[in-house]
Amino acid sequence: MSAEEALEYIKSRPEGALQSDLWKVLKIDSRKCSRIVAKLLKDNLITREVESAEGIRTYRLSCTIKPRGRRFDPLLALDAFEPCAGCIEECIPEHCAKLSEWIFSIVMGVEGEVAVEKVRS
Ligand code: SF4
Repeated sequence: MSAEEALEYIKSRPEGALQSDLWKVLKIDSRKCSRIVAKLLKDNLITREVESAEGIRTYRLSCTIKPRGRRFDPLLALDAFEPCAGCIEECIPEHCAKLSEWIFSIVMGVEGEVAVEKVRS
């Protein structure tokens, strides 16, 4: 079991992973797990906070590397990028078809996409 595998597990848990779970999941003993955690901490790849789980003192481990793919999620609706970002057209937002379609796709989800296609055709 390597530090990379431990880091991947921690990274896959957005709320962080308990160290008391980590060594069980990775099927290693707690001493080896502590050494791996120490290396990840030393390399600043994770943070560690004391936590109590079921009456047992352990640590919550969180990855310091945030996934890049989510950076623009607030600007995406069904893979369509928010139309105002970078737009240089003069506009009256209340009458902008691109903005209306984008908002419609947020409100209606996939059904909205189908409805917009019907309106266009
Ligand atoms: S409302 Fe329409 S025209 Fe105005 S910035 Fe957004 S996309 Fe561009």
